Amino acid sequence: MVDEDGHYTCDAGNDLSGLNVLREGNEKILNLLRENILHKEVYVHSYPYDWRTNRPVIIRSSLQWFIDTNSIKTAAIDALQKVEILPTRNVEGMIAQMERRPYWCISRQRSWGVPIPVLYDSDQPVINSELIDHYKCLALKHGADFWWTLPLDELIPKALRNSLDPETLSKGQDILDIWLDSGLSWSSVLGGKTADVYLEGVDQFTGWFQSSLITSVALQGKAPFSKVIVHGFAVDETGRKMSKSLGNVVDPQFITRGGPNLKQDTAYGVDVLRWWVASHGLQHTTISISNRLLEECADNIKRLRNSLKFLMGSIDDFPEYLVLDPPPLSTTDKYFLLLLQEFESRINDFYRGYQYNRVCTAINNFVSNDLSSFYCHVTKDKLYCDGSKSNKRKAVQYVMYHALNTLTKAFGPIMPILAEELYSYHPHRTDDSSPYFFEFDKLQPIHLDIDNVEKTELKSCFQLVKAIKENIFKEMPINLKSSELKCILTVDSPTYDSLKLLQEDGESVNSDLTAILQVSTVILNKDEGIRGYSIEARATDHSVCDRCRRFCVEDSNDEICDRCKDVLEVLPTVNVSSI
Ligand SMILES: [Zn+2]
Repeated sequence: MVDEDGHYTCDAGNDLSGLNVLREGNEKILNLLRENILHKEVYVHSYPYDWRTNRPVIIRSSLQWFIDTNSIKTAAIDALQKVEILPTRNVEGMIAQMERRPYWCISRQRSWGVPIPVLYDSDQPVINSELIDHYKCLALKHGADFWWTLPLDELIPKALRNSLDPETLSKGQDILDIWLDSGLSWSSVLGGKTADVYLEGVDQFTGWFQSSLITSVALQGKAPFSKVIVHGFAVDETGRKMSKSLGNVVDPQFITRGGPNLKQDTAYGVDVLRWWVASHGLQHTTISISNRLLEECADNIKRLRNSLKFLMGSIDDFPEYLVLDPPPLSTTDKYFLLLLQEFESRINDFYRGYQYNRVCTAINNFVSNDLSSFYCHVTKDKLYCDGSKSNKRKAVQYVMYHALNTLTKAFGPIMPILAEELYSYHPHRTDDSSPYFFEFDKLQPIHLDIDNVEKTELKSCFQLVKAIKENIFKEMPINLKSSELKCILTVDSPTYDSLKLLQEDGESVNSDLTAILQVSTVILNKDEGIRGYSIEARATDHSVCDRCRRFCVEDSNDEICDRCKDVLEVLPTVNVSSI
C-alpha cells in the first residue's frame, strides 16, 4: 500500500492514494478516523531512524529474495563449536546470534552492486537450470556486469528462445546484499584452505563472521576460519560512538602527528597509537580515545625507552664472542636470567593467544619491577665501577644483552619502528643492508643451564632476601640511610645455606647480598638455636669510597676502597697537560 517514494498507493483507497505517509497521509488518516477517535494525546515513543541521513524510516512490505538459513543453522553452529573465538567471552554471543538468525534477505534495491540475475515474465520470476548455466558463462566472459550491459535477448540461451518471449520479459533490477559478496570472500581468497584468523569488530557477529560462516558451511560443509578474533570499538572521550554527523571522529593521524597547535594537541607518534590499540583493543567492547589513556601509553613507552637506552649503553663494550662463551654468572645473574626466561615464555603464550593487552601489561611490569628496580639497580655498581676486564661486569653485560634482546622480541611486533631503531644502534649489528626490517631470528636465545632443583633454590633464596630487606627497613635507625648500615643476620642452617648463594664470606662489603639489601656490610652468623633469622641493623664503621660512593672503605685513612684501588691501578695514565 506504500510505494518506494513513501506515498500511499491506490490500494490504500482514493482518499489516501498519492499522499506522503509521514506528512499529509498521517493527517488524512486522523481525519478519516475523526468520528471514531475517543481520546487524543501526545505519546513519545521510539521510532527507527536512518543512521546515515538521520531521517525517519518507513517500514513497508516488498517482494524480496531470501535464503532459508534455518536449514543450515544446525550445521553452522556445529562448525562454530570447532572454531576458537577470542576473547572467549564472545563465544556464547556468537553462537546465540547464529541461533537467532532469521531468514537472510539477500536482495537490495540499490543502483550499484552485483545483480541478482533473474528475468521476470509479467512479474513472475523465470528460473531454470539452463538460464543459470547461461548466466554462469556470461559472467565468466563479461564479468558480473553482464546483466546490466548485455541486451535482454542475449540473456536468453538459444535453446530457450522459442519458449521465452523477450517482449514480455524484463530484467530484475535487484542487487545482492553486500554481506553475501563479502561473506564469499573465502572462496576467492583461500583456494580451499581454512583461514588461520578472521579479525573484525564486535558488530560482525551478525555481519561478516556470520555471512562467511553460512556461505562456507552451505558450499563446503565447514567454517572458513579456525579462529575468530573480535576487537572492540574506539569511542570518543565521553563514550559516544564516533560518527561524521556528530563530528566526534578522531583521525588516527591527529594522534600520531598532533594538531595545528602541538602544545595543545600532542604528536604522540605511531608507537603510542599502536601501543594504545594493543593495550586496549581486545579486552573491551568500547575503548575511549582519551588524552589520559594516550598519556598513559606515552609514559609506558618512555619508561621502556629509558630502560632500552640503559641496556644498550651497558653492552656497548661487550664483545660479541662472549655471547656464546659467557663468563661465570653470579647467583643474581642466574636468577634474573630465570625471570627473563619466564617473561619470554609468558609473552610467547600471550602472543599465541592474541592477548596483546597482557603482552603490554607483562612488559610494563617486567620493565618496572624485575629489570629496573631489581636487576639494573643491584648490578649498576659492577657495571659502573668494576674494571673493564672484570668477569663480574662482563657477566652483567651478558645478562643485559639478553634482557635487551628479549625485550625487543617482546615489544617488536607492537612497535616495529622502535625495534628497528634500536637494532640500528645495536653494537653487534652486522647487516647494514637491512636497516628497515628487524629480524628476530638474529637474536641469540637465552641459554640457562640449571635444573628444576636449582630453580627452586634460586626462587626461595630471593623470596627470603626480599622478606629480609623489608624487615631491615622496619628495623632501620631513622637517622641513617640503608647504605650506611651494617646488617648482622643471625640465621638457622637452611637460611644460612640459602643466603650463602649470595654471600660466600661470613662478612662482606661487596657481595650480591649487600647490593640487594642496599647496605654497607652484611655479617652472616649461623645459630642453631633460632628458627629462620634475626636482624640487627646498626651504623657501619666503614667510610664512604670517593669513587664508588659505597660505605666500604675499611681504613678511614683511605679515600677509596680496595676494589676501586685495583681498578684505578690498571687504568692508563692520562697526561692532563696534553688534554
Ligand atoms: Zn669504591
